[in-house]
Amino acid sequence: MTGHREPLSSVLEAIGETPLVEVHDAPDAVPVYAKLESFNPGASIKDRIGKYMLERMLERGDLGEGGTVIEPTAGNTGIGLAVAAKQLGLEAIFVVPERFSVEKQQLMRALGAEVVNTPSEDGMGLAIDRAHGIAEELDDAVVPQQFSNPLNAEAHYETTAPEIDAALDGEVGAVVAGCGTGGTLMGMARYFREADPDTHVVAVEPAGSAYREFLGQEVDHEEYKTEGIGTHDIDTNELFDPDLVDEIDAIDDRDVHEEMARLAAEEGHLVASSSAANAIAAKRVAREIRDGEIDAPHDAVVTVFPDSSERYLSKGVYRSFEEWEG
Ligand code: PMP
Repeated sequence: MTGHREPLSSVLEAIGETPLVEVHDAPDAVPVYAKLESFNPGASIKDRIGKYMLERMLERGDLGEGGTVIEPTAGNTGIGLAVAAKQLGLEAIFVVPERFSVEKQQLMRALGAEVVNTPSEDGMGLAIDRAHGIAEELDDAVVPQQFSNPLNAEAHYETTAPEIDAALDGEVGAVVAGCGTGGTLMGMARYFREADPDTHVVAVEPAGSAYREFLGQEVDHEEYKTEGIGTHDIDTNELFDPDLVDEIDAIDDRDVHEEMARLAAEEGHLVASSSAANAIAAKRVAREIRDGEIDAPHDAVVTVFPDSSERYLSKGVYRSFEEWEG
């Protein structure tokens, strides 16, 4: 059974077991299902890795109770780590370049974390260096580093994927997910490829992002508005394994903007841009399975809706495309 029907002792127990909901703008013969990750206490998929990475690191003795977790992060991962840190008796410090969403920084502080800002022009590189610098000065501190920590993908292998598998009685034919770190897709791909090696696996990125370079394709690096997925530097990613991926789908910001509005107006999903990108790719995969262009062992296509549009209202997600700041 999914969902939490019993009283829970803390928000940690409320992480996961999110609803899996059919996306209706897809072929009847090949249904698409999306896991609604904004149902987590920190309102995103990153609560799963926040809880999972910190619990494993405590078990392994990488840090002790009262220790400090430090992560360079601009977004949902900080919130997910902050939710878990306090409940596990840990301190949290996030190093965030100034230009990133003020709302997310406010939420991290509200959850008891300290936020250290770095100048925007120095980018994420400086934030990473600063995080390691702070860790060295403290006695018991770790930098989980979601872009290189195998526990990130493992969290999805151990929780997201089995929850989907159970809900669909093992009938998953294709897995589609946008890649920021790639942790979500890698964990799910590993799980479902073990269940059936022919499971079709699709990575999703914004047009202008460079994940396709992992498959030897040439990419024109461009800025994009879709948030939370994509990369301009594949060398900083140690999680993404191209051998686990059949194709990488690059989605245009304009299509994402239109799909975000459609998902809300027609299907009642208040989800953000990476969810819309996933929906577009998942529906395309479903049509191609129906038309015999993709061979998949089962007819269901699964994806995730990582977070909610409410987190980005101030950026104009539901205004015109030009007004959407991305
Ligand atoms: N969507 C959103 C909104 C995110 O914040 C993230 C994480 N950056 C992703 C998708 C991608 O998840 P992952 O890092 O597991 O690839």
